[in-house]
Amino acid sequence: MQRLGKNIKGYSGETIDIEAVQNDCVAAAQRHGWTIEEIHPAPRRIFGLMHHVSRLTTHAPRIYISTGIHGDEPAGPLAASRLLQENAWPTGLDIWLCPCLNPTGFVLNHRENQEGFDLNRQYRAPEAAETLAHVAWLQRQPRFDLCLCLHEDWEAHGFYLYELNPDRLPSLAEAIIARVAEACPIDRSETIEGRPARDGIIRPDLDPNTRPQWPEAFFLITHMTRLSYTLEAASDFPLPLRVAALVAAVNTALKAVPKG
Ligand SMILES: [Zn+2]
Repeated sequence: MQRLGKNIKGYSGETIDIEAVQNDCVAAAQRHGWTIEEIHPAPRRIFGLMHHVSRLTTHAPRIYISTGIHGDEPAGPLAASRLLQENAWPTGLDIWLCPCLNPTGFVLNHRENQEGFDLNRQYRAPEAAETLAHVAWLQRQPRFDLCLCLHEDWEAHGFYLYELNPDRLPSLAEAIIARVAEACPIDRSETIEGRPARDGIIRPDLDPNTRPQWPEAFFLITHMTRLSYTLEAASDFPLPLRVAALVAAVNTALKAVPKG
């Protein structure tokens, strides 16, 4: 499969009605017995959707999934909606899901929020209302066993991912790539976004504390988890393929996560 070749200086593909997609997410969550929290009120509504199986005597692995932090990456919120509609989550997991962290960005079909903040650069020193609310909400949650952040990249030649795994826990990266490769091309470039990559896997060797601008994943790995994946669908391919890739990646990660 070839790239479409139409996303040259930025993303110029399909857009989504983010309010409709978020409404679909919330309706599906309600149908399937999830708890729904409003992290930020309208007109920039951000939801935290939670489905917990743990009881006082049990501890299920805790999974956090977020997406929609960049308003020109529609496959992420669509994948969140698909996962909620399908409701085929592996059993025995506690799940937290934020289906859209940047609603005003989607209205404008651009990466930043309405005020021009790249929300995925301000988790060290939040300024935007969305990030302030999201961080405050995260700080009320317990630590997670696995975090997945769903993104898209219009420059990529296929799907790829970043792994943050400072304790060298068993990696889920190869399993995710192998499964996604059945659904769409993998970017097997040796350098992606200026970082060494191998078979679609980037393992950045860096200390977040040396970085002034934190993406969400740096906040998560510093404060909330010891294992984080940023999943990048390639937005120069058809939208249904990208959604399928992200859904397959999430499902594979959730099946592979150790059940304690
Ligand atoms: Zn992104």
